[in-house]
Amino acid sequence: MAKLTWFDTHVHLQDKAFSKDRAQVFARAKKAGVDYILLATSYLEDSRQAVELALEYDHVYCSIGFHPHDSKRWNANSAQKLKNLYQKTATRAKKLGRANPIVAVGEIGLDHYRDLSPRNVQKQVYREQLLLAYELQLPVIIHEREAFQASYEMLRWAYEQGFLQKEPGVAHCFSGSWESAQLLMAMGFTIGLDGPVTFKNARKSKEIATKIPLEKLLIETDAPYLTPEPKRGKRNESSYLPYIGEEIAKLRAQDIAIIAKTTTENGKRVFSIKE
Ligand SMILES: [Zn+2]
Repeated sequence: MAKLTWFDTHVHLQDKAFSKDRAQVFARAKKAGVDYILLATSYLEDSRQAVELALEYDHVYCSIGFHPHDSKRWNANSAQKLKNLYQKTATRAKKLGRANPIVAVGEIGLDHYRDLSPRNVQKQVYREQLLLAYELQLPVIIHEREAFQASYEMLRWAYEQGFLQKEPGVAHCFSGSWESAQLLMAMGFTIGLDGPVTFKNARKSKEIATKIPLEKLLIETDAPYLTPEPKRGKRNESSYLPYIGEEIAKLRAQDIAIIAKTTTENGKRVFSIKE
């Protein structure tokens, strides 16, 4: 079988969980055909670290932004600091003959499950980052947990104001219903599925994997979290992405080569990656 090419569109390889063996993790991803990687970020320093890796490795990209958990770290200067990071990275990348590796704002959104930042703060920081994405003309990576209605209303507002890109981004690690997924897709969003789709009891994720038009699907490891079967219990990493693709191929009764090719193209389309 020809070697497949995959795109891990959401992973945290800048995390300290990888500080001892990061180079090997990148090497194993490459060996597994995970040729494209997008590092998702959670706060300013995390975004800076992701930028350094993205500039160091070819075909590694990143987002910049504040996760709902980290909304409480946001202050009056944060949007400007993210903008400065974006501009400086563009200049550095140009010197290397590359496009800016910062390709999204995220992960942004609402998390009413863990509530690690006050809900009103989450909401305000979510709105400000949707405006930042509009200003930078970037798609967004949405993190939403047990807050679908509130997040949907915010996105609907941005959509109606014309603040979303034509390819607005991805509902990352989507755990809602097929009906909710359809509401997001109607605004142009893609849906990200992760390791849990390989779990026996993941009824909703499996339903989405089966029904979704393939051009609306992204696959993500979210490593070091959410390790797929058969590696469940270990630290997750990008080289495990094909296990998720394999399960989706099985659920859809489709050739895994089509899943790999189409989801990779989807990721390149959503994040405007030409290389
Ligand atoms: Zn994540």
